Amino acid sequence: MNHAGKPGKTGSLMAVEVALARLLEMADASPIKARERLPLAQVQGRVLADDLISTLDLPPWPNSAMDGYALRVADWTGEPLVVSQKIFAGTAPQPLEPGTCARIFTGAPVPDGADCVEMQENADPQADQRIVFTQPLSPGQNIRPRGQETTVGELVLPAGTRLGPIEQGLAASLGRAELEVIRRVRVAVLSTGDELVEPGTTLGPGQIYNSNRMLLCSWLQRMGCEVIDAGILVDDLAVTRARLGELKDVDLILSTGGVSVGEADFLGIALREEGELTLWKLAIKPGKPLTFGHFRGVPVIGLPGNPASTLVTFAMLARPYLLRRQGVQNVEPLKFAVPAGFDWLKAGNRREYLRGRLENGRAIIYKNQSSSVLRSAAWADGLVEVLEDRTLVAGENVMFIPLSEVLN
Ligand code: AMP
Ligand code: MG
Repeated sequence: MNHAGKPGKTGSLMAVEVALARLLEMADASPIKARERLPLAQVQGRVLADDLISTLDLPPWPNSAMDGYALRVADWTGEPLVVSQKIFAGTAPQPLEPGTCARIFTGAPVPDGADCVEMQENADPQADQRIVFTQPLSPGQNIRPRGQETTVGELVLPAGTRLGPIEQGLAASLGRAELEVIRRVRVAVLSTGDELVEPGTTLGPGQIYNSNRMLLCSWLQRMGCEVIDAGILVDDLAVTRARLGELKDVDLILSTGGVSVGEADFLGIALREEGELTLWKLAIKPGKPLTFGHFRGVPVIGLPGNPASTLVTFAMLARPYLLRRQGVQNVEPLKFAVPAGFDWLKAGNRREYLRGRLENGRAIIYKNQSSSVLRSAAWADGLVEVLEDRTLVAGENVMFIPLSEVLN
C-alpha cells in the first residue's frame, strides 16, 4: 500500500516544510548585506552580491567549431579551391578572397566573406594543394555565431547565486577578474554536554568523544562560512550564559545537544532569560527536537545531539537557513525519485531521512538507522526520504538526496 503523507496526520509534530518555511522567513528578516570584492580564484562557496551582467558578446566574433576550411558556399562549384590564408586561433584573419578557401582551426575567427566551415575530414587536398570538398555544404555550418553564449547587457548570473567552479569559469570567460560577494557568514559552533571530551584525550567513565563539533565545523568551512569554534559547553547555567555572552559578533550560534527534554537544557533557560526561544517538535527522523531563538539579539539554532540527527537537521534546516541569510533563493537540495530496494511496512509519524545508497538503480539503506550511529552516513551516499504516514514495498519510489548536494 502506498499512502501519500497527509498533513495533519503528524499530530502535534511540525512538518519539515513548515519548520523550513519559518526558518527561511527569519533568515529573510535578517539578510547579511555586507559584501567584499574578491579575486575570482577566492570566491568558491561564496554568494554573488550583484547581478553578473555581460559586458561582451561571447564569443566576440564568429569562430570555427572545427579544424577545416572556411569558404563561401556559393564559391563551391565543384572546381578545386585555392587556400588563400591560414587562420590559427588567436590571430586576426584577412577578409576571404572571393573564390578561395582558408585553412582554419578550432576557435579561430571566421574571416569576413566566409559563411561556412567544412571539417578537414570532408576536404580532399589535391596534388596542387587546392581543395575539393567531398560532401554537400550549407551556410552557417560549423560556425559558432558571435554572441551565441551571451550578448552585451545580458543577465548571466543573478545576485544570490552560489559560486562554484562552473560560475567561476563562466565569470572568467566574461573577463571578470574579481567579483563582489556577500561576506562570510560567521557561525559559532557549540557542543553541549557534560559527557563530551575532545579526541586526543582519554575517555573517563561515562564520557564520549565530541563528534558533532568536527562534523559541523568542517561542514561549515566547506560551505564558505567563518567558523568560530566555541568548544564544549558543560551543562551549567552560569557557564552557558557566560559563553553565549562572548559570542556577540556572530551571525548564528549553532549548538548541538541539550534540546531533548530539558532537565539539562541550560541553553534553553539562558535563551528564555535573555532573548527568546521556540522549541519545535519536528516530524523528522532522526531529529525531532530543534530550537530556534535569540540570545541578546543573536540568532541561535539548537540541533539535537545525536550525530545522525545533527547531520540530518543541519542538512535539511540549518544549511538552507544559512544560505538564505546570504541571499540564496534556491536553498533546498536537489532530490530525485528512485525505486526503493527495501520494504517499509510500518508507517511512522515522522518523515524519515534514512542513510542510504544507490545500488543497481535502487535505494538501499544502512542496517542500523539509530540516530546515534554516524557510521550510517559514512556508509551512505544519500538521504532516502520516506514521507510520514507512509508504507512502501521494494520497487515503489522514494526520494533520494545525494549527500554531495548538501555537503558544500
Ligand atoms: P542531548 O540532546 O544533549 O540529550 O544529547 C542526545 C544524545 O546525543 C546523547 O546521547 C548525547 O551524548 C549525544 N551527543 C550530544 N552531543 C554530542 C556530540 N557533540 N557528539 C557526540 N554525541 C553527542
Ligand atoms: Mg546533552
